[in-house]
Amino acid sequence: MKFGGTSVGKPERMHHIATLVSQGTEPTLVVLSALSGTTNALVEIGDYLSKGDRTATRKCIDKLEAHYHSFVDELVTDKAAKAKATAIIAEHFEFLNIILKISFSEALNKDILAQGELLSTKLFCTYLEEQGIDHFLLPALEFMVIDSYDEPQVSVIKKRLTPILNKHKDKKLFVTQGYICRNSKGEVDNLKRGGSDYSASLIAAAISASACEIWTDIDGMHNNDPRIVKKTIPVEQLSFEEAAELAYFGAKILHPASIWPAQQYNIPVKLLNTMQPQSKGTLITEKAGSVGVKAVAAKDNIIAIRIKSSRMLLAYGFLRKIFEVFEKYRTPIDMITTSEVAVSLTIDNSSHLKEIVKELKPFGNIELDEKQTIISVVGNNISQTEDMVKKLFGSIRNIPVRMVSYGGSPHNISLLVPAEYKTQLLQQLNKGMFGLE
Ligand code: ASP
Ligand code: MG
Repeated sequence: MKFGGTSVGKPERMHHIATLVSQGTEPTLVVLSALSGTTNALVEIGDYLSKGDRTATRKCIDKLEAHYHSFVDELVTDKAAKAKATAIIAEHFEFLNIILKISFSEALNKDILAQGELLSTKLFCTYLEEQGIDHFLLPALEFMVIDSYDEPQVSVIKKRLTPILNKHKDKKLFVTQGYICRNSKGEVDNLKRGGSDYSASLIAAAISASACEIWTDIDGMHNNDPRIVKKTIPVEQLSFEEAAELAYFGAKILHPASIWPAQQYNIPVKLLNTMQPQSKGTLITEKAGSVGVKAVAAKDNIIAIRIKSSRMLLAYGFLRKIFEVFEKYRTPIDMITTSEVAVSLTIDNSSHLKEIVKELKPFGNIELDEKQTIISVVGNNISQTEDMVKKLFGSIRNIPVRMVSYGGSPHNISLLVPAEYKTQLLQQLNKGMFGLE
Protein backbone atom coordinates (compact mmCIF):
# COMPACT_ATOMS: atom_id res chain seq x y z
CA MET A 1 0.00 0.00 0.00
CA LYS A 2 1.55 3.26 -1.13
CA PHE A 3 0.37 6.60 0.19
CA GLY A 4 1.23 9.88 -1.50
CA GLY A 5 2.08 13.23 0.01
CA THR A 6 -1.48 14.46 0.47
CA SER A 7 -2.48 11.18 2.14
CA VAL A 8 0.11 11.79 4.87
CA GLY A 9 0.23 15.59 4.69
CA LYS A 10 -2.00 16.30 7.69
CA PRO A 11 -1.92 14.66 11.13
CA GLU A 12 -5.54 13.51 10.79
CA ARG A 13 -4.78 11.94 7.42
CA MET A 14 -1.92 10.02 8.97
CA HIS A 15 -4.29 8.82 11.71
CA HIS A 16 -6.71 7.72 9.04
CA ILE A 17 -4.15 5.73 7.06
CA ALA A 18 -2.93 4.06 10.25
CA THR A 19 -6.45 2.63 10.50
CA LEU A 20 -6.49 1.68 6.81
CA VAL A 21 -3.18 -0.19 6.89
CA SER A 22 -3.93 -2.11 10.06
CA GLN A 23 -7.29 -3.46 8.88
CA GLY A 24 -6.19 -6.07 6.39
CA THR A 25 -5.76 -9.76 7.05
CA GLU A 26 -2.73 -10.21 4.79
CA PRO A 27 0.72 -9.00 5.83
CA THR A 28 1.10 -5.48 4.48
CA LEU A 29 4.02 -3.40 3.35
CA VAL A 30 3.38 0.33 3.42
CA VAL A 31 5.35 2.76 1.25
CA LEU A 32 5.14 6.42 2.18
CA SER A 33 5.94 9.64 0.33
CA ALA A 34 7.10 12.74 2.11
CA LEU A 35 4.43 15.03 3.60
CA SER A 36 2.96 17.16 0.81
CA GLY A 37 5.09 20.21 0.13
CA THR A 38 8.20 18.79 1.79
CA THR A 39 10.05 17.59 -1.31
CA ASN A 40 9.34 20.92 -3.03
CA ALA A 41 10.77 22.69 0.03
CA LEU A 42 13.85 20.44 -0.02
CA VAL A 43 14.36 21.16 -3.73
CA GLU A 44 14.24 24.86 -2.90
CA ILE A 45 16.73 24.40 -0.05
CA GLY A 46 19.12 22.59 -2.39
CA ASP A 47 18.71 25.31 -5.03
CA TYR A 48 19.48 28.14 -2.64
CA LEU A 49 22.42 26.25 -1.22
CA SER A 50 23.84 25.56 -4.68
CA LYS A 51 23.68 29.28 -5.40
CA GLY A 52 25.46 30.02 -2.14
CA ASP A 53 22.50 31.92 -0.69
CA ARG A 54 22.79 30.84 2.92
CA THR A 55 20.28 33.31 4.30
CA ALA A 56 17.53 32.04 2.01
CA THR A 57 18.54 28.43 2.68
CA ARG A 58 18.28 28.96 6.42
CA LYS A 59 14.92 30.66 6.07
CA CYS A 60 13.50 27.67 4.16
CA ILE A 61 14.91 25.20 6.66
CA ASP A 62 13.45 27.09 9.62
CA LYS A 63 10.07 27.35 7.99
CA LEU A 64 10.02 23.63 7.23
CA GLU A 65 11.10 22.79 10.77
CA ALA A 66 8.28 24.88 12.23
CA HIS A 67 5.85 23.01 10.00
CA TYR A 68 7.03 19.69 11.38
CA HIS A 69 6.72 20.83 14.97
CA SER A 70 3.11 21.85 14.51
CA PHE A 71 2.46 18.62 12.60
CA VAL A 72 3.80 16.48 15.44
CA ASP A 73 1.81 18.49 17.99
CA GLU A 74 -1.37 17.05 16.56
CA LEU A 75 0.01 13.72 15.44
CA VAL A 76 0.74 12.22 18.83
CA THR A 77 -0.61 12.89 22.30
CA ASP A 78 1.26 10.98 24.95
CA LYS A 79 4.42 12.38 26.43
CA ALA A 80 6.82 9.62 25.41
CA ALA A 81 5.58 9.72 21.80
CA LYS A 82 5.88 13.52 21.69
CA ALA A 83 9.45 13.32 22.97
CA LYS A 84 10.29 10.68 20.39
CA ALA A 85 8.77 12.64 17.51
CA THR A 86 10.56 15.80 18.61
CA ALA A 87 13.85 13.90 18.70
CA ILE A 88 13.23 12.66 15.14
CA ILE A 89 12.67 16.22 13.92
CA ALA A 90 15.78 17.37 15.78
CA GLU A 91 17.90 14.65 14.19
CA HIS A 92 16.89 15.50 10.62
CA PHE A 93 17.02 19.25 11.05
CA GLU A 94 20.40 18.98 12.67
CA PHE A 95 21.54 17.45 9.39
CA LEU A 96 19.83 20.21 7.40
CA ASN A 97 21.61 22.80 9.52
CA ILE A 98 24.97 21.15 8.99
CA ILE A 99 24.61 21.52 5.22
CA LEU A 100 24.89 25.26 5.71
CA LYS A 101 28.46 24.76 6.80
CA ILE A 102 29.66 22.45 4.06
CA SER A 103 30.08 22.98 0.36
CA PHE A 104 27.33 22.01 -2.04
CA SER A 105 27.56 18.94 -4.24
CA GLU A 106 25.08 16.84 -6.22
CA ALA A 107 25.56 13.99 -3.75
CA LEU A 108 24.75 16.30 -0.84
CA ASN A 109 21.65 17.48 -2.70
CA LYS A 110 20.40 13.90 -2.92
CA ASP A 111 20.88 13.54 0.83
CA ILE A 112 18.85 16.70 1.33
CA LEU A 113 16.04 15.38 -0.90
CA ALA A 114 15.93 12.12 1.07
CA GLN A 115 14.96 13.82 4.35
CA GLY A 116 11.25 14.02 3.46
CA GLU A 117 10.58 10.30 3.22
CA LEU A 118 12.83 9.55 6.19
CA LEU A 119 10.82 11.98 8.31
CA SER A 120 7.36 10.86 7.17
CA THR A 121 8.01 7.16 7.80
CA LYS A 122 9.63 7.69 11.20
CA LEU A 123 6.84 9.98 12.35
CA PHE A 124 4.20 7.57 11.08
CA CYS A 125 5.86 4.72 12.98
CA THR A 126 5.92 6.84 16.12
CA TYR A 127 2.18 7.24 15.80
CA LEU A 128 1.69 3.50 15.15
CA GLU A 129 3.70 2.76 18.26
CA GLU A 130 1.66 5.15 20.35
CA GLN A 131 -1.48 3.40 19.12
CA GLY A 132 -0.04 0.00 19.99
CA ILE A 133 -0.05 -1.12 16.34
CA ASP A 134 2.74 -3.63 15.90
CA HIS A 135 4.99 -2.89 12.89
CA PHE A 136 8.54 -2.82 11.58
CA LEU A 137 10.28 0.12 9.89
CA LEU A 138 12.22 -1.15 6.86
CA PRO A 139 15.03 1.20 5.83
CA ALA A 140 14.67 1.59 2.05
CA LEU A 141 18.34 2.51 1.76
CA GLU A 142 19.21 -1.06 2.73
CA PHE A 143 17.44 -2.69 -0.21
CA MET A 144 16.29 -0.12 -2.79
CA VAL A 145 19.19 0.23 -5.21
CA ILE A 146 19.79 1.48 -8.74
CA ASP A 147 22.55 0.31 -11.07
CA SER A 148 25.21 2.35 -12.86
CA TYR A 149 22.60 3.37 -15.48
CA ASP A 150 20.40 4.62 -12.63
CA GLU A 151 17.98 1.78 -13.28
CA PRO A 152 16.47 -0.37 -10.53
CA GLN A 153 16.53 -4.16 -10.97
CA VAL A 154 13.75 -6.14 -9.31
CA SER A 155 16.01 -9.19 -8.84
CA VAL A 156 18.61 -7.16 -6.95
CA ILE A 157 16.00 -5.50 -4.76
CA LYS A 158 14.47 -8.89 -4.05
CA LYS A 159 17.82 -10.36 -3.03
CA ARG A 160 18.35 -7.60 -0.52
CA LEU A 161 14.82 -7.29 0.77
CA THR A 162 13.94 -10.98 1.27
CA PRO A 163 16.45 -11.69 4.07
CA ILE A 164 15.33 -8.58 5.98
CA LEU A 165 11.68 -9.63 5.74
CA ASN A 166 12.56 -13.20 6.72
CA LYS A 167 14.20 -11.94 9.87
CA HIS A 168 10.91 -10.35 10.89
CA LYS A 169 8.44 -13.09 10.03
CA ASP A 170 6.46 -12.34 13.19
CA LYS A 171 5.48 -8.91 11.84
CA LYS A 172 2.32 -8.26 9.85
CA LEU A 173 2.94 -4.61 9.05
CA PHE A 174 6.02 -3.09 7.45
CA VAL A 175 6.64 0.57 6.68
CA THR A 176 9.25 1.91 4.28
CA GLN A 177 10.26 5.03 2.37
CA GLY A 178 9.26 5.59 -1.22
CA TYR A 179 11.43 7.56 -3.65
CA ILE A 180 14.83 7.11 -1.97
CA CYS A 181 17.46 4.56 -2.91
CA ARG A 182 21.19 4.00 -3.15
CA ASN A 183 23.09 4.34 -6.40
CA SER A 184 25.90 2.14 -7.68
CA LYS A 185 28.44 4.24 -5.78
CA GLY A 186 26.59 3.54 -2.56
CA GLU A 187 25.41 7.13 -2.26
CA VAL A 188 21.91 8.16 -1.30
CA ASP A 189 19.91 8.81 -4.47
CA ASN A 190 16.29 8.83 -5.59
CA LEU A 191 13.89 7.56 -8.25
CA LYS A 192 13.07 11.08 -9.51
CA ARG A 193 10.09 13.23 -8.60
CA GLY A 194 6.94 11.28 -7.93
CA GLY A 195 9.09 8.15 -7.59
CA SER A 196 7.28 6.65 -4.61
CA ASP A 197 4.83 4.94 -6.98
CA TYR A 198 7.82 3.37 -8.68
CA SER A 199 9.19 2.22 -5.31
CA ALA A 200 5.86 0.61 -4.50
CA SER A 201 5.66 -1.24 -7.81
CA LEU A 202 9.28 -2.43 -7.56
CA ILE A 203 8.73 -3.69 -4.03
CA ALA A 204 5.44 -5.35 -4.96
CA ALA A 205 7.27 -7.16 -7.77
CA ALA A 206 10.18 -8.08 -5.51
CA ILE A 207 7.97 -9.67 -2.85
CA SER A 208 5.37 -11.09 -5.30
CA ALA A 209 2.65 -9.12 -3.57
CA SER A 210 -0.98 -10.08 -4.20
CA ALA A 211 -1.63 -6.46 -5.18
CA CYS A 212 0.05 -3.08 -5.37
CA GLU A 213 -2.30 -0.41 -4.07
CA ILE A 214 -1.55 3.21 -4.90
CA TRP A 215 -3.57 5.41 -2.55
CA THR A 216 -4.05 9.04 -3.59
CA ASP A 217 -6.64 11.78 -3.24
CA ILE A 218 -8.70 10.89 -6.30
CA ASP A 219 -10.84 7.82 -7.00
CA GLY A 220 -8.66 6.27 -9.66
CA MET A 221 -7.51 7.24 -13.13
CA HIS A 222 -10.06 9.48 -14.86
CA ASN A 223 -11.02 9.59 -18.52
CA ASN A 224 -9.68 13.14 -18.81
CA ASP A 225 -7.84 15.69 -16.72
CA PRO A 226 -10.25 16.75 -13.93
CA ARG A 227 -8.33 20.00 -13.46
CA ILE A 228 -9.08 21.04 -17.02
CA VAL A 229 -12.44 19.64 -18.08
CA LYS A 230 -15.56 19.92 -15.97
CA LYS A 231 -16.92 16.41 -16.08
CA THR A 232 -14.70 13.36 -15.85
CA ILE A 233 -15.38 9.79 -14.84
CA PRO A 234 -13.07 7.22 -13.26
CA VAL A 235 -11.92 4.38 -15.50
CA GLU A 236 -12.74 1.06 -13.83
CA GLN A 237 -10.27 -1.17 -15.56
CA LEU A 238 -7.13 -0.75 -17.64
CA SER A 239 -4.54 -3.10 -19.01
CA PHE A 240 -0.91 -2.56 -18.07
CA GLU A 241 -0.28 -1.28 -21.61
CA GLU A 242 -3.07 1.26 -21.45
CA ALA A 243 -2.02 2.42 -17.98
CA ALA A 244 1.60 2.76 -19.07
CA GLU A 245 0.60 4.88 -22.09
CA LEU A 246 -1.60 7.10 -19.94
CA ALA A 247 1.01 7.51 -17.22
CA TYR A 248 3.70 8.22 -19.76
CA PHE A 249 1.60 10.63 -21.76
CA GLY A 250 0.65 12.79 -18.85
CA ALA A 251 -1.83 11.26 -16.42
CA LYS A 252 -0.37 12.72 -13.24
CA ILE A 253 -1.79 10.06 -10.97
CA LEU A 254 0.97 7.53 -11.63
CA HIS A 255 4.73 7.81 -12.12
CA PRO A 256 5.35 6.70 -15.74
CA ALA A 257 7.90 4.04 -14.88
CA SER A 258 5.77 2.45 -12.20
CA ILE A 259 3.86 0.13 -14.51
CA TRP A 260 6.66 -2.07 -15.86
CA PRO A 261 7.65 -3.88 -12.64
CA ALA A 262 4.01 -4.73 -11.90
CA GLN A 263 3.46 -5.78 -15.50
CA GLN A 264 6.57 -7.92 -15.70
CA TYR A 265 5.74 -9.72 -12.46
CA ASN A 266 2.00 -9.67 -13.14
CA ILE A 267 0.97 -7.88 -9.96
CA PRO A 268 -2.45 -6.21 -10.13
CA VAL A 269 -2.24 -2.48 -9.45
CA LYS A 270 -5.15 -0.66 -7.81
CA LEU A 271 -5.51 3.09 -7.77
CA LEU A 272 -7.54 3.98 -4.69
CA ASN A 273 -8.76 7.06 -2.88
CA THR A 274 -7.65 7.63 0.71
CA MET A 275 -10.65 9.89 1.33
CA GLN A 276 -13.12 7.34 -0.06
CA PRO A 277 -11.65 3.91 0.63
CA GLN A 278 -14.89 2.20 -0.45
CA SER A 279 -14.94 3.57 -3.99
CA LYS A 280 -13.87 1.20 -6.71
CA GLY A 281 -10.94 3.16 -8.10
CA THR A 282 -9.07 1.76 -11.10
CA LEU A 283 -7.86 -1.80 -11.46
CA ILE A 284 -4.84 -2.37 -13.69
CA THR A 285 -4.11 -5.94 -14.77
CA GLU A 286 -3.14 -7.92 -17.85
CA LYS A 287 -6.72 -7.65 -19.07
CA ALA A 288 -8.18 -4.49 -20.47
CA GLY A 289 -11.73 -5.19 -19.34
CA SER A 290 -13.39 -3.70 -22.39
CA VAL A 291 -12.61 -2.58 -25.92
CA GLY A 292 -12.52 1.03 -27.05
CA VAL A 293 -11.35 4.43 -25.95
CA LYS A 294 -10.82 4.79 -22.22
CA ALA A 295 -9.08 8.07 -21.56
CA VAL A 296 -7.10 11.01 -22.85
CA ALA A 297 -4.05 12.53 -21.24
CA ALA A 298 -1.82 15.49 -21.97
CA LYS A 299 1.91 15.87 -21.68
CA ASP A 300 3.30 19.41 -21.62
CA ASN A 301 6.60 21.06 -22.46
CA ILE A 302 7.18 19.13 -25.63
CA ILE A 303 9.58 20.24 -28.33
CA ALA A 304 9.02 19.18 -31.93
CA ILE A 305 12.03 18.91 -34.23
CA ARG A 306 11.64 18.66 -37.99
CA ILE A 307 14.56 17.49 -40.11
CA LYS A 308 13.98 18.16 -43.78
CA SER A 309 16.35 16.77 -46.32
CA SER A 310 16.16 15.69 -49.92
CA ARG A 311 18.93 13.26 -48.99
CA MET A 312 16.33 11.29 -47.11
CA LEU A 313 14.55 10.51 -50.36
CA LEU A 314 14.98 6.82 -51.11
CA ALA A 315 17.90 6.66 -48.72
CA TYR A 316 18.47 4.03 -46.08
CA GLY A 317 20.33 4.54 -42.82
CA PHE A 318 19.10 8.11 -42.58
CA LEU A 319 16.91 7.54 -39.52
CA ARG A 320 19.60 5.57 -37.76
CA LYS A 321 22.02 8.45 -38.01
CA ILE A 322 19.43 10.81 -36.63
CA PHE A 323 18.49 8.53 -33.75
CA GLU A 324 22.13 8.12 -32.85
CA VAL A 325 22.33 11.81 -32.06
CA PHE A 326 19.52 11.44 -29.53
CA GLU A 327 21.10 8.34 -28.10
CA LYS A 328 24.40 10.13 -27.65
CA TYR A 329 22.69 12.77 -25.51
CA ARG A 330 20.48 10.23 -23.70
CA THR A 331 17.36 12.08 -24.80
CA PRO A 332 14.27 9.93 -25.30
CA ILE A 333 12.05 10.51 -28.33
CA ASP A 334 8.28 10.39 -27.74
CA MET A 335 6.56 10.78 -31.10
CA ILE A 336 7.82 10.28 -34.65
CA THR A 337 6.21 10.95 -38.02
CA THR A 338 7.83 10.75 -41.40
CA SER A 339 7.23 11.85 -44.93
CA GLU A 340 9.46 11.00 -47.84
CA VAL A 341 11.64 14.06 -47.37
CA ALA A 342 11.22 14.98 -43.73
CA VAL A 343 10.99 13.48 -40.30
CA SER A 344 9.41 15.11 -37.26
CA LEU A 345 10.00 13.93 -33.75
CA THR A 346 9.36 15.15 -30.25
CA ILE A 347 11.34 15.27 -27.04
CA ASP A 348 10.46 16.56 -23.59
CA ASN A 349 13.95 16.88 -22.22
CA SER A 350 15.59 20.02 -23.50
CA SER A 351 18.81 19.80 -21.48
CA HIS A 352 20.88 18.93 -24.57
CA LEU A 353 18.73 20.61 -27.20
CA LYS A 354 21.51 22.93 -28.38
CA GLU A 355 24.00 20.11 -28.91
CA ILE A 356 21.37 17.93 -30.57
CA VAL A 357 20.37 20.64 -33.05
CA LYS A 358 24.01 21.34 -33.82
CA GLU A 359 24.69 17.69 -34.60
CA LEU A 360 21.51 17.35 -36.67
CA LYS A 361 22.35 20.31 -38.91
CA PRO A 362 24.53 18.37 -41.34
CA PHE A 363 21.49 16.14 -42.11
CA GLY A 364 19.28 18.89 -43.41
CA ASN A 365 17.18 21.87 -42.53
CA ILE A 366 16.15 21.88 -38.86
CA GLU A 367 12.96 23.50 -37.59
CA LEU A 368 12.02 23.70 -33.92
CA ASP A 369 8.55 24.13 -32.43
CA GLU A 370 8.72 24.63 -28.72
CA LYS A 371 5.88 24.80 -26.16
CA GLN A 372 3.90 21.96 -27.66
CA THR A 373 1.59 19.48 -25.93
CA ILE A 374 1.01 15.83 -26.71
CA ILE A 375 -2.58 14.74 -26.30
CA SER A 376 -2.89 10.97 -26.21
CA VAL A 377 -6.07 9.05 -26.74
CA VAL A 378 -5.70 5.68 -25.05
CA GLY A 379 -7.84 2.57 -25.07
CA ASN A 380 -7.94 -1.11 -25.83
CA ASN A 381 -7.44 -1.84 -29.54
CA ILE A 382 -8.74 1.57 -30.43
CA SER A 383 -7.43 1.35 -33.94
CA GLN A 384 -9.93 -1.46 -34.55
CA THR A 385 -12.82 0.33 -32.91
CA GLU A 386 -15.42 1.25 -35.49
CA ASP A 387 -15.55 4.89 -36.51
CA MET A 388 -12.90 5.75 -33.97
CA VAL A 389 -10.81 7.84 -36.32
CA LYS A 390 -13.88 9.58 -37.68
CA LYS A 391 -15.05 10.38 -34.17
CA LEU A 392 -11.63 11.56 -33.10
CA PHE A 393 -11.04 13.94 -35.96
CA GLY A 394 -14.69 14.89 -36.03
CA SER A 395 -14.39 16.24 -32.49
CA ILE A 396 -11.52 18.58 -33.32
CA ARG A 397 -12.42 22.10 -34.39
CA ASN A 398 -10.13 25.02 -35.23
CA ILE A 399 -7.03 23.49 -33.74
CA PRO A 400 -3.79 23.38 -35.74
CA VAL A 401 -2.58 19.83 -35.18
CA ARG A 402 1.18 19.69 -35.68
CA MET A 403 1.69 15.91 -35.67
CA VAL A 404 -0.40 12.74 -35.52
CA SER A 405 0.94 9.38 -34.46
CA TYR A 406 -1.28 6.39 -35.18
CA GLY A 407 -0.54 2.70 -35.31
CA GLY A 408 2.60 2.64 -33.20
CA SER A 409 0.59 0.71 -30.66
CA PRO A 410 -3.01 -0.45 -31.08
CA HIS A 411 -3.81 1.30 -27.82
CA ASN A 412 -2.80 4.85 -28.53
CA ILE A 413 -3.30 7.74 -30.91
CA SER A 414 -1.28 10.84 -30.15
CA LEU A 415 -1.75 14.37 -31.39
CA LEU A 416 0.73 17.19 -31.03
CA VAL A 417 -0.68 20.69 -30.68
CA PRO A 418 0.69 24.08 -29.59
CA ALA A 419 0.34 24.30 -25.80
CA GLU A 420 -2.21 27.11 -25.98
CA TYR A 421 -4.71 24.71 -27.60
CA LYS A 422 -4.45 22.04 -24.93
CA THR A 423 -7.50 23.01 -22.86
CA GLN A 424 -9.63 23.44 -25.94
CA LEU A 425 -8.63 20.09 -27.39
CA LEU A 426 -9.17 18.21 -24.12
CA GLN A 427 -12.64 19.74 -23.90
CA GLN A 428 -13.49 18.96 -27.51
CA LEU A 429 -12.36 15.35 -27.08
CA ASN A 430 -14.30 15.01 -23.84
CA LYS A 431 -17.44 15.92 -25.70
CA GLY A 432 -16.75 14.14 -28.95
CA MET A 433 -15.25 10.90 -27.66
CA PHE A 434 -16.94 10.45 -24.28
CA GLY A 435 -20.12 12.48 -24.62
CA LEU A 436 -19.18 14.43 -21.51
CA GLU A 437 -19.42 18.19 -21.24
N1 ASP B 1 8.35 12.90 -2.31
C1 ASP B 1 8.73 12.68 -3.67
C2 ASP B 1 8.19 13.79 -4.55
O1 ASP B 1 7.49 14.66 -4.08
C3 ASP B 1 8.35 11.34 -4.17
C4 ASP B 1 6.86 11.08 -4.24
O2 ASP B 1 6.08 11.75 -3.59
O3 ASP B 1 6.46 10.17 -4.95
O4 ASP B 1 8.50 13.81 -5.71
MG1 MG C 1 2.74 11.07 -6.78
